[in-house]
Amino acid sequence: MTPEFSLIARYFTRPTPRAALGVGDDCALIGVADGHVLAVSTDTLVSGTHFFVDADPVKLGHKGLAVNLSDLAAMGAVPRYVTLALTLPSVDDAWLDAFSRGFFSLADRYNVELIGGDTTRGPLSMTLTVFGEVPLSSALRRDGAKAGDDVWVSGSLGGAALALKHMQSKVALKPNVFERAAERLHSPLPRIELGLALRGIASAAIDISDGLLADLGHICERSKLMAEIEWASVPLSPALLSVGPELRVPCGLAGGDDYELCFTAPAAMRARIDSIAAEVGVPMTRIGVMRQGDVGVVARDEKGELMTASAAGFDHFSS
Ligand code: ADP
Ligand code: MG
Repeated sequence: MTPEFSLIARYFTRPTPRAALGVGDDCALIGVADGHVLAVSTDTLVSGTHFFVDADPVKLGHKGLAVNLSDLAAMGAVPRYVTLALTLPSVDDAWLDAFSRGFFSLADRYNVELIGGDTTRGPLSMTLTVFGEVPLSSALRRDGAKAGDDVWVSGSLGGAALALKHMQSKVALKPNVFERAAERLHSPLPRIELGLALRGIASAAIDISDGLLADLGHICERSKLMAEIEWASVPLSPALLSVGPELRVPCGLAGGDDYELCFTAPAAMRARIDSIAAEVGVPMTRIGVMRQGDVGVVARDEKGELMTASAAGFDHFSS
């Protein structure tokens, strides 16, 4: 047995009762329920770019899967399968044990089967592909927003970006504030239940990985509309609210990595969305409206004035 082979057998081979064939052959074999389609998404995380080389491997295993499952949540798909391509600088059993524990504890929570992957030697990185199931007509796409729809966001924003700024020594947070923010950065929870509950209710949806403005901008582009949001309505993370106001715009509007959902829905759905918030236990906030107009996001400040590109962090989405 080659080391790679025993590594796969030891850390990455678990029962896959749903898949027709899992780890161990040239390909995995999976089916899909009648009337459904597979929602497929891939994300790569590279050490030094997406995480620090010395990152806690339990959290890394969790996060690698979480950011991929977040794409399924944003599509309204039920998570089913995942493949994992791992590039490792060396075979470090303690690291692999911790990584696989973090990975499988989240996989088990959502009943996701690891059905294959690849294992290579090189600078640490991972590429995951997730497969979810959704009825074709229920998928929450980016191109379905209509003029007059409300813009909503789940949970709160800016915590992850704030933690990152602390880790980059751009800000010095009190230990308890950092701890709360770091939880958002290292252990995001994909909004799977919310995405499923929004089938038939949201007209368009996206997960916030690159910041509210950038990601809502993608809904605008695909739906060929303008989004007008009220800055004062944007739900900011408690950690962000506890530090100086100068960080609120860059972390709350332009900061990424929160993995909340941003979605649009007709005004007639407001009461339904409020009850979904209670059912799934995630607050949902209405932050603006979709309009005909120049494609892109505009934000209004407390006085109703348009915020300009000179507001910190505003540049990279206004182009
Ligand atoms: P091949 O050369 O045919 O690509 P590999 O030796 O790379 O086969 O992999 C053998 C089996 O182990 C395959 O089923 C593959 O999907 C699986 N596998 C490899 N690496 C991983 C991993 N990191 N996690 C899960 N399954 C893996
Ligand atoms: Mg291979």
